[in-house]
Amino acid sequence: TKAIRLDKMLSHMGYGSRREIKKLCKEGLITVDGKTIADSSVHVNTDEHEVKVGLERVIYREFMCLMLSKPSGVISATEDNRHKTVIDLLDKKYMGFNLFPVGRLDIDTEGLLLLTNDGQLAHRLLSPKKHIPKTYYAKIEGRVTQEDEESFKRGVILDDGYKTLPAELEILKSDNISEIQLTIYEGKYHQVKRMFEAVNKKVIYLKRILMGNLMLDEKLALGEYRELNTDELQLLN
Ligand code: URA
Repeated sequence: TKAIRLDKMLSHMGYGSRREIKKLCKEGLITVDGKTIADSSVHVNTDEHEVKVGLERVIYREFMCLMLSKPSGVISATEDNRHKTVIDLLDKKYMGFNLFPVGRLDIDTEGLLLLTNDGQLAHRLLSPKKHIPKTYYAKIEGRVTQEDEESFKRGVILDDGYKTLPAELEILKSDNISEIQLTIYEGKYHQVKRMFEAVNKKVIYLKRILMGNLMLDEKLALGEYRELNTDELQLLN
């Protein structure tokens, strides 16, 4: 168990900036173990002390992990001058956690994106050495064939000369517009789009549906998100 400054704790848990917390203290709204605290710089032990803002008990947690169903048109970054970011989609109660996206999806790509402040979790999922699978659903202009499946199994040469690791292509529908699922074990820039370019085809819709063992919750509408449950967190550990 660890002591943390009261204003830091409450700011982390989404109760405002340190200045705003200081004000709440002055106004007598903050109690620790039932005692009104005037000085927001005191240290509290988050496991032992009962902190309340008004009548609300504040349960401290250090790490947060959200699953977002990323819509097209927002970028996977924490800040941007021109575009809305995935962080802009979040309720302000999550602002204190300083969440960041685990990896990147293109602006026009939809689907599973994790947002966390847990650097170790992010590293486990992103480390190139770990070959964490990522599965995408895509619509492709033109007929995707058995031959493409075999090419992806062997690895294809991208426009920069890089040869991709073996990937699993599943053809859901082969037509003028084909539908596929592709599982890759690495994450080069625009990888899925460039893999299809390597076989002279164009991705016209792309959505990530799986990362590691974690599936996108299809109940989430585009732009919606939720906290991971304990089973899901376990899957990522
Ligand atoms: N591959 C792409 O080309 N784009 C993404 O957003 C993700 C994988």
